[in-house]
Amino acid sequence: MRRPPGRGITDLVERLLTVAEVYAPVERDQSVVFDRIESAREAAIDRGPAALSPKNLVFPRCEMLLSSSTRGDESGRAPDPGPGGPRVLFGVRPCDARAIALLDRILGGGEKTDSYYIRRRESLVVISIGCTESLETCFCETTGGGPRSTEGSDILLEDLGDRCEASIITEKGVWLAGQIGLEHDPAGARTPRGPAPPAGPAADLAELKKRLDRSFEDQCWRDIALKCIGCGVCTFLCPACHCFDVIDEETAGVRVRSRIWDSCQFPAFTEQASGYNPRPSAAERFRQRVMHKFSYCIERYGMPGCVGCGRCVSRCPVNLDIRTVTASFLGDGGEP
Ligand code: SF4
Ligand code: SF4
Repeated sequence: MRRPPGRGITDLVERLLTVAEVYAPVERDQSVVFDRIESAREAAIDRGPAALSPKNLVFPRCEMLLSSSTRGDESGRAPDPGPGGPRVLFGVRPCDARAIALLDRILGGGEKTDSYYIRRRESLVVISIGCTESLETCFCETTGGGPRSTEGSDILLEDLGDRCEASIITEKGVWLAGQIGLEHDPAGARTPRGPAPPAGPAADLAELKKRLDRSFEDQCWRDIALKCIGCGVCTFLCPACHCFDVIDEETAGVRVRSRIWDSCQFPAFTEQASGYNPRPSAAERFRQRVMHKFSYCIERYGMPGCVGCGRCVSRCPVNLDIRTVTASFLGDGGEP
């Protein structure tokens, strides 16, 4: 049974609320999601991993890019200017923080910097809490992370009940710690207390990538994807998926261009104007999802596009388990 967050955690949240907007796991409609809180009491830190990752905070499900009016007046809506002051994302699990590190590499760096992402990301300080227990569906270590991974976190906390220990990871973390008088515990930073919960063995990601690359034309994809109903749940829940569509709408003379999350599991995702679709069946679409995560992301960004949060494992309506699929390519049994 999960224990409620210790006094140390709730004290810390109260202090954070005096210097920044705070977003934390909260209960909404019987699910745990990330939302803005006004008091530490609202934070549902002890309810286990959130059903939805905090990705929406830096990469919203629907975001207006621009707007104009055909009426010759100023009735076009101004785009959201983004957050005004510092925002703290509190109580993130290390896997979800690691997904933000991946999004930083994809949308926040290199030649293709995404200004909409950057303006939300710059003001965000990420405080994660190390996991003390794992679910049957967790497999962060298999993807190169771990229950106390610091990647993507500005501060990593360990809840010790009456107090918490903080590992301050980045300059942003140092700044925030200074604002609230949080002391860095160098021992806590380097020497986690007690054993980390099991979260699956570390897989040989380089070997997995090699085997996937060799299997691109393999018939096994047809067999694997037979069960997939193309609902897209796996991609919409994934903290690391980042594909989007851009749509134009006009209502009463006001035109709005927005971007919305999309899913590579939908048939129309790659359909071209000519009607040609390079991924016409579930086999190509499911292969794309696995290849993107365990081959292309590693090649382009130096880390997999999966952080092992387990959401797609627990929520896929037909129990198509990405762990079983990848294990099958490593010769560890599985579906093909
Ligand atoms: S959640 Fe399962 S059924 Fe739905 S698209 Fe993903 S793999 Fe296919
Ligand atoms: S692929 Fe599945 S397990 Fe991996 S990060 Fe996405 S939702 Fe989590």
